[in-house]
Amino acid sequence: MGMYVAHQYTREEDSTVRCSLCNHRCTIKEGKTGICGIRLNREGTLFATTFGRISAEAVDPIEKKPLFHFLPGSLSYSLGSVGCNFHCEHCQNWHISRNTRGIEGLSDLAPEEGVRRATARGCASISWTYNEPAIWHEYPLAMGALARKAGLGTVYVTNGYITEEALREVAPVLSAYRVDLKAFSEDFYRKVCGAHLQPILDSAVVARELGLHIETVTLVIPGLNDSAGEMDDLIRWVIDHLGPGTPMHFTRFHPDYRMLDRGPTPVARLEQLYERAREIGVRFPSLGNVVSHRYEHTYCPVCGELLIERSGFSSLIRNLDGHRCRKCGEQIELVTDAA
Ligand code: SF4
Repeated sequence: MGMYVAHQYTREEDSTVRCSLCNHRCTIKEGKTGICGIRLNREGTLFATTFGRISAEAVDPIEKKPLFHFLPGSLSYSLGSVGCNFHCEHCQNWHISRNTRGIEGLSDLAPEEGVRRATARGCASISWTYNEPAIWHEYPLAMGALARKAGLGTVYVTNGYITEEALREVAPVLSAYRVDLKAFSEDFYRKVCGAHLQPILDSAVVARELGLHIETVTLVIPGLNDSAGEMDDLIRWVIDHLGPGTPMHFTRFHPDYRMLDRGPTPVARLEQLYERAREIGVRFPSLGNVVSHRYEHTYCPVCGELLIERSGFSSLIRNLDGHRCRKCGEQIELVTDAA
């Protein structure tokens, strides 16, 4: 485990390499790493230094990812490593993403053993989460192939900065793409995350074309990304490019890490957003980080019947017959089979 020859790079002059795994497309000099801190150039060969190196492992409800329309009520074997290609000011996993423990302090987990543990612990899927999975590429690729053979679903919890070519490589072993849409402004992505918006939108469209199940998450930060105009644009973009059946999660901000200059998102603002999303045409908006709220549930977008009831991270199927609303017969976008 550890040093593994990377995929998705090209060799340039003087032992310099160019990584094409995420849209930073770092040019990396000999002996250096890219922005993510974990892809290392040694004598003109790029190495993935965290292959099979684990910082966190847990059996989580799939609802915690959050994924609401993918294997609801099931468990997901969740793994993370260290490093991130974004350095967001409000990161809630900064102790992992900023690699403060160092790679040496991590545990080893072979792909085969990960799949074995997922199955033994009654999980229906494996999620690569906690830190950015796209920069871990070769490991989810190896484990994902085994997981799919074993009948498990596979999930990226991602900031979406993966390049199209890397996404095309991993997509055959991936079932779900849970992507952050942190804002709908280039300015936000540049200033807060040190990245760009458009490549994230482009890759999400590719994920859809490749048939992945997609859900979006927007952390609503007061005064930063929550203006009515920006949120309307974001919602409209999702409807037009990913489809109105794409579940959209709007989650509550709590002050953290370096962003302590503002309070939590008012619940009334989140409720407005939910209602606005429904009005514009999103079939399944939901709220997150709010305790026991009626807008955590899934309702039939046609007749309003309660279909999936949620409390905390647990789900209860209520009025669904397979993929149809029991009351009006509307077809509901829902993945119920990992295979
Ligand atoms: S994964 Fe992204 S941040 Fe890391 S080296 Fe490659 S291009 Fe740079």
